[in-house]
Amino acid sequence: MNNSSILLVDDDPVIIHRISRILSEVATLRFATNGEAALRLARVAVPDLILLDSEMPGMSGFEICEILKADPEFADVPVIFVTSHSDTALHVAGLELGAVDFIAKPISEPLLLVRVKTQLRIKHLTDELRRTSTVDALTGLANRRRLDERLEREWLRSLRDKDPIALLLVDVDFFKLYNDHYGHPEGDACLQAVARVLMESCQRPADLAARYGGEEFALLLPQTTLAGAQLVAQRVLDAMARQALPHAASSIANHVTVSVGIGYVDVPGSESQVRDLVAVADQALYAAKSAGRAQAWHMGTAPLQLPAPAVGHGPTTLRPHSPPDLPAT
Ligand code: GH3
Ligand code: MG
Ligand code: MG
Ligand code: MG
Repeated sequence: MNNSSILLVDDDPVIIHRISRILSEVATLRFATNGEAALRLARVAVPDLILLDSEMPGMSGFEICEILKADPEFADVPVIFVTSHSDTALHVAGLELGAVDFIAKPISEPLLLVRVKTQLRIKHLTDELRRTSTVDALTGLANRRRLDERLEREWLRSLRDKDPIALLLVDVDFFKLYNDHYGHPEGDACLQAVARVLMESCQRPADLAARYGGEEFALLLPQTTLAGAQLVAQRVLDAMARQALPHAASSIANHVTVSVGIGYVDVPGSESQVRDLVAVADQALYAAKSAGRAQAWHMGTAPLQLPAPAVGHGPTTLRPHSPPDLPAT
């Protein structure tokens, strides 16, 4: 708990001094004596807890709390009001604003300590819960739930900003045979290795590597054109060839390979939906599998409709650069 950080906001330096003495062993403390400074500090590094004086000249504690709770970045940071008022209506108003507790002035040391420790414990449990509910336990990548949320959000963003968006579906080739040949634990280790490759293959902050399910992965590439998506797909194929994880049971290579389906949309039309993007990526993946695996295919349209492969922008194939045991294209 002592790696927690608390932001202490009070216009009275005497109070700040007293509280920080009491809490010095519990957390790292930062201080602000007015609302503007408090918001500035919170933006620099999001604290685990905010102790907020309810009465300050300028922006009141209530106003600061309101601003914090309206901002997605701070909405989950617990706020405890520190106040010399004891009337119930004020407490109710504060709790309704989203504060978690009140501490009365003059400050009681044991009460302050126990209340702060309780809130920090809850905060860390909540953070851990949020993390585990969005991360795939085996690979550490985003899980399907997180991918679905991000997909929906990025789709709406690209619809609004008229930006391209791409989705790669990546499926390990002959993975059932891999499990049969090397055993399930080795299969798990193989999936972890593929996850590392995917993580390293997408480099923009908005990119997201996720485990889609089983031995299938997804790379969400917001604001990315077909050329960009092809570059990332090529990187994945090349990295898998470089890794050269032995796969004695594969009939197309002597190492583990993946097939990649590239779905992309130049400009999402308002009539198209995010599931269309997943559908074209899935079709492209199927095409890559049918064409022999260890390669990437793409499909996409503007506006999004499922294209016949023969039309103009029909699928082009990507294969790993000079794979050790595959003919170069
Ligand atoms: P293809 O090249 O057509 O993709 O063939 P495949 O064998 O990879 O595909 P298939 O869908 O037949 O088999 C997927 C296998 O992935 C079957 C399943 O047991 C295995 N699998 C799924 N999840 C896990 C996992 O978490 N760990 C391990 N070790 N294996 C898994
Ligand atoms: Mg005050
Ligand atoms: Mg497979
Ligand atoms: Mg599969």
